[in-house]
Order: sequence, then C-alpha cells, then structure tokens
Amino acid sequence: MTTPPRYSADPVELDLDRWLLEGAPVPGCASCATRAVKRDAAAEAGDWKAACAAARGIRNHRHGHRETV
Ligand SMILES: [Zn+2]
Repeated sequence: MTTPPRYSADPVELDLDRWLLEGAPVPGCASCATRAVKRDAAAEAGDWKAACAAARGIRNHRHGHRETV
C-alpha cells in the first residue's frame, strides 16, 4: 500500500509549444517588423503571453493584394 506524499512537489514546467512563437514577418512591413521586435523582446524577458500575442499578430497580419508570396 502506498501513502500519498505529504510534501508539496515542485511545479511542473511544461514546454511551450514552439509554434506559438512562429511567424515570419513580411519583409518591408513595418507592422510585422514591430511585432517581431516585441515578440523577441518579450520571449527574452519570459513574457510568454506578450510573445505569443505578438507572434499571432504577425501570422494574422493581412497584407492585401500587395502580398507576393
Ligand atoms: Zn505585416
């Protein structure tokens, strides 16, 4: 028979899904460039919420008919 631990365990660190920070800024797009700088700075600071939000902004940024890719 086992007894449950009577001490608190260390918090479990889950790996962040790396794709959440993915997103290629479109060259020449100031908005994408700004978000990329924000994302990198936030990731560096460990602010994953801000980093993910900035990456999402890059992925979702619409460039209309001028987009060539
Ligand atoms: Zn853009």
